This record gives sequence, structure tokens and C-alpha cells, in this order.
Amino acid sequence: MQEKCGVVGIAHADTPVARSLYDALYALQHRGQEAAGIVTHDGFQQHQHVEVGLVGDAFDERDLESLQGRAGIGHVRYPTQGSLERSCAQPFSISFKGGALGLSHNGNLVNTAECRDALADAGHTFTSTGDSEVIAHELAHQLLEHDVVEAVRQLMDRVHGSYSLTIMYDDEVMGVRDPLGNRPLCIGKVDDGYILASESSAIDTLGGELVRDVRPGELVRLARDGSGYTSDQIVEVDHPAHCFFEYVYFARPDSTMEGHLVYEIRRELGRQLWQESGIETDVVIPVPDSGRAFASGYAEASTGVEFAEGLMKNRYVGRTFIMPTQDERERAVRAKLNPIRSTIEGKTVTLIDDSIVRGTTSKQLVKLLRAAGAREVHLRIGSPPIRAPCYMGIDMATREELIAHDRSLGEIETAIDADSLAYLSREAIAETLEVTFDDLCMACVTGKYPYDIEGEETDRHISSRVARTP
Ligand code: SF4
Repeated sequence: MQEKCGVVGIAHADTPVARSLYDALYALQHRGQEAAGIVTHDGFQQHQHVEVGLVGDAFDERDLESLQGRAGIGHVRYPTQGSLERSCAQPFSISFKGGALGLSHNGNLVNTAECRDALADAGHTFTSTGDSEVIAHELAHQLLEHDVVEAVRQLMDRVHGSYSLTIMYDDEVMGVRDPLGNRPLCIGKVDDGYILASESSAIDTLGGELVRDVRPGELVRLARDGSGYTSDQIVEVDHPAHCFFEYVYFARPDSTMEGHLVYEIRRELGRQLWQESGIETDVVIPVPDSGRAFASGYAEASTGVEFAEGLMKNRYVGRTFIMPTQDERERAVRAKLNPIRSTIEGKTVTLIDDSIVRGTTSKQLVKLLRAAGAREVHLRIGSPPIRAPCYMGIDMATREELIAHDRSLGEIETAIDADSLAYLSREAIAETLEVTFDDLCMACVTGKYPYDIEGEETDRHISSRVARTP
């Protein structure tokens, strides 16, 4: 399972912005490892550098020096729509009659083809296959006829799906979050100005302070002199559809989202997991790194089950789920995680992970632990079973590939060869986040989506839920 992308936008009062954007992108590297890019504006013209690869490989000193100006946006990418090639790397930069536009997108549209066809009919040509370029062209199209606020309102009317955007319109930096707030975006104060970023850890990296989350359906414009920002609530919704997986897996544990420190949320989910399905074993061990906070909360809430590290991670192997074939994924798990025998041998073990997607990793880990001498292996999972694909920008798997898609709990337990298996309930997640189900997207668990998607069920209708502000 792979996060979609990370976005950032910064406006400084006095100092060049390129290095701050670079540092912020480094902090967001976990949200996309396939390409990185920056667009700045020096008051006269835009400068752009995008490259395939990690942030550290995509830029050198010369690149940063060429990215002149006190305002800019950046992007780290994992392709969700559009093939993996340089032309899909972001930020997109386009020049049109109304000026110069740069755009970074995190999310996924569910009506790309419809929007693309309408724009093509209006004479727009595209250089990539992705949905982000469609958003850039749609916005440019609207900016020819409208001011910024009305153009964003028109954009929100036309494009449907998840999008957190940072936008560079001439020398102005803006941020937009889709009306359901599916993907995160926050505002921060840094030394010499203001920043918009997917996660607050990017703000921390610059020594800044989180101000607040951008609200669903809100447009935020950073002042060109770095003195502040203005806000326009473009549309209002009764309930957002925040992706619950940001808290469970995608976001960095040191990020704060919607008022919650992600690390503390994961620890609390671990405590809940103990309350719901705790089992007395000799030791509880996490799947590193994402299971660690869950396991520490689980052990803390337990009646004295020892928390220990039982799997050592090779940090130089990429995320397993990026591997395109089953065989490569299995090899990657073995290369990535190695058991610590002394923690495991002769013991009953509870293994904690954040989620199960295809089941490949879980099955292999159970096998590894048994081979290392575990007497019993009980698996506890910090989220509910994933039964349906994500159309909102998470590269998860097809429905058929998901192990829970057509299996009962007992069947999954058997397939993974665990002595017992339990997932955390949806209720525990909503309760921990202090929201109702109405305020979360849990479509990959329920199969009911917050948008109209052909062939799928919806649990709400966006058009009936979006109320325009006067
Ligand atoms: S379907 Fe799942 S992964 Fe996708 S946005 Fe909704 S909660 Fe997040």
C-alpha cells in the first residue's frame, strides 16, 4: 500500500525559498519516492525543476540556485493516475494567456476522463496521462474568465475526487483542499513567512509552527510579503471524508492532523486493540516501523505482556508494496525483515501490524517467526479488514488481490497460518479520532465510497452534501 503524493507551498518575506522547499520535501519523502519537483517565481518569471527519483537525488546545488524567488511550491510523487515517467512529475507548470500556473496535487480524481474530454473540446492539449494536469488546465481555463476565488469555485464544481493542492499563480502561493477534505493539508508559520504542507512534520523540519489544518473546501492564499494568509471558504459540507488510513499508516507519526498527533492516535489504537482482542502471550512484537506505536500501546494496556523488538528492519530496502510482482514482493519482505531469535525462540508471540493488504507480508512474517522458534504466533491488526480498492489516490491493490475481499476472518487466519488473528473495529477508530463514521472515509473497509464511482456503492452524495457559500 503506497501513499499518493506530498505537496508543499511557501511564501517568504525576504529570503530565497528553494532550500526551504527542498527541506520540506525531504520531510514528506515517505509520501512519494518516484519523483520530486519544485516551481518558484522570482516576481518576473517561473522557474521549474522536476526529476525522477528521491528528493536527495533529484536536486543538486546548481538546481536549487536556479530556482530563484521568494515563493514556490513543491511535490513528491508516487503515480496513482498516469504512467511513471518524467512528464508526469510535478509540479506542473503551464503558461497561458492569464499568466503562469504551477500546480502540485495529492489525491485522485474520479471523473478525469470527463474533465479531460471537456477541456480537449475547448482546445487544451495535454502532455501527460495523469489527472493532475487536468486540474491545472481546468484552473487555467477558469482563470481566463474569473477571479481566483470564482475560478476555484468553478474548479470545485467540475473536478470530483480527492485533491489537496498547492498552486503557484504568477508569484502568489495558494492552497486548496477538496470539499470532503479527503487528503490532508495544513498551514504553518515559519521564520520568514508561511507554509502550506501535506503534513505538519514538514513545518517542524523548517523550525516553524503548525497554525491549523486547511478546512475542506477552503482556499488559502499566502501573502506575497510573507506576512500572513487569507482564507475563502469556497464550499461547505456537512461532514468531511478524511482518509482514516492517514492516521493508521500513511502519515508520519510525528505529524499532527485535525488536532491529533498521529503517534498518540496509533498508541491509543493499540490500547483499544488490547481491549478488544488482547491475548496473553510471552511477548508482543511490532512489525517495524509502522506497527511499533500500536504495539507499545497494546503492551501498555495489557496485563504485563512484554514489549520487545523481534524483527530487525534493513532500512535500505524500499517499501515492499512498491514491488510490482508477487515474487518480487516476497523477496523484498525477506530482504527487509529479519527475526531476532533471542526474543522469539520458545515463546508465544503476538505480532502487531497496522493493516493487512494482500496478506503476503503477514504470511511470510508468521513463517519467519515460526522458523525462528516461536511456539505460537498471534496476529493483531490496528485497523479493520481491507475489502475494497481505493479510488482516492492510494495505490492499494485490485479487489481480487485483497486477502479480506472474499474471505472470512477464519479463512484469512488459515491463509496466513496464524494461531489467531484479530482486527481492530471501525468503532474503535472513530472513537479514538473523536468523530462519527460520517466524518471519515472508510471505503476500503466498507466498500461504500464518498464519491459517485461507476460500479461502486456510495454512502453519500457529494452534490446533496455540498452547500455553496453565498
Ligand atoms: S478508501 Fe481507504 S485508503 Fe482510500 S481514501 Fe478512503 S480510507 Fe483512505
